[in-house]
Amino acid sequence: MNEAKLREEICILGKSMFDRGLTPGSSGNISARVDDGWLMTPTNSCLGRLDPATISKVDAKGNPVSGGKPTKEAFLHLSVYEQRPSAGAVVHLHSTHSVAVSCLADTDPKQPIPPITAYYVMKIGNLVLLPYYPPGDMTLANAVREVAGKHHAILLANHGPVVAGKDLEAAVYATEELEETAKLYLLLRGNKLKILSPEQVAELHRKYPS
Ligand SMILES: [Zn+2]
Repeated sequence: MNEAKLREEICILGKSMFDRGLTPGSSGNISARVDDGWLMTPTNSCLGRLDPATISKVDAKGNPVSGGKPTKEAFLHLSVYEQRPSAGAVVHLHSTHSVAVSCLADTDPKQPIPPITAYYVMKIGNLVLLPYYPPGDMTLANAVREVAGKHHAILLANHGPVVAGKDLEAAVYATEELEETAKLYLLLRGNKLKILSPEQVAELHRKYPS
């Protein structure tokens, strides 16, 4: 996909997520890889009102090249790309149900949401919960860098999800799958859960490697 088309896609998918209440106000940010760097949503921008012409562009080293000032979470996105050469896009939202799960005490950081549906296993699979770090802080970017090689979906405690995909559409769909699964998980809390067995999970990973 060329850069002009990708700029449009960021605006279309950003608006789609905002319109469905997936990230309020000026929260959330999107980035996508281009030949000579990355496109990123500008800082303090609302995902519902992005303009293809003012999307920030940063070079291969992360320095701003054109457009608005990049999101203050730029380093978080760049940490993911550094560890995942195959990632074409990264989506970070403050989506209500995922954030709610990130605030629960006594959550297993290695499995903040159990494998309750096949699509969750196929699109997210191996979610990890990171401890709380202040937004925009390098300690957060460093913590993300440590786990991003093994996890394409990361949940930041008391903050929200960060999800990488091979392209923008894949990253958006996976983030939405995570949000829907977080909603289901919260709906089910307090009930005895029937989750997918390790064998069923392994079979899905075999058939649909992420
Ligand atoms: Zn955030």
